[in-house]
Amino acid sequence: MERETPRSPTEAERAVVEFLLPPEILRSQAIQSQIHAMSVQSNCTCGCGSFTIVNGLDADSLLTSAIEAWDAARGISMGFISAGGSLAVEITYFAGESEGIPEDFSSFERA
Ligand SMILES: [Zn+2]
Repeated sequence: MERETPRSPTEAERAVVEFLLPPEILRSQAIQSQIHAMSVQSNCTCGCGSFTIVNGLDADSLLTSAIEAWDAARGISMGFISAGGSLAVEITYFAGESEGIPEDFSSFERA
């Protein structure tokens, strides 16, 4: 599969990254500027909305503390994974069609 050229994240992509980071990490000035400067690449053809952060956030330091979130009723999980040394957001639909990044995270439980 051909990879998309790195681009600025959409508002939804930025929101899911911020949602998946623990509040104490999100408060860090360094993390804030990394999120501001990050580029992303879509790595999905199924419509789930998963994407890789190609520069900006350090996978090694964040994977250990990242939060996984899930919505049991709708059968969706979201979390960070390591993708060849980069940080990626993986969104999985266990039930029903992939619908991309959910618009509202209020129904999600966090680990
Ligand atoms: Zn997908």
